[in-house]
Amino acid sequence: MALQGVYQLINDRNTKLERELNKVTLPINECPHCGCAIFYRKDYMSGSSWYYASNTIDVENGSMYDGLKTTYGKWWHCDDCHKRVFEDEDVE
Ligand SMILES: [Zn+2]
Repeated sequence: MALQGVYQLINDRNTKLERELNKVTLPINECPHCGCAIFYRKDYMSGSSWYYASNTIDVENGSMYDGLKTTYGKWWHCDDCHKRVFEDEDVE
């Protein structure tokens, strides 16, 4: 893959992640067990995705996950100790 294509992919992914990050407010700032400030929810996806590429034209894949059926996890976990720390229903 051309380097420009790699940069485009990283850009698309970061833009999508920033959008998603800005949408949520978590009920805690730090893990009560270890103090880590990063949390994750494990989601399950199924369906088909289209990945575009070209040798001569810049293409973007920012919407490659949009058509997937997503089942969201019930619990959020600490990124460091992986313990359950809060439920998804407590996220705004
Ligand atoms: Zn922790």
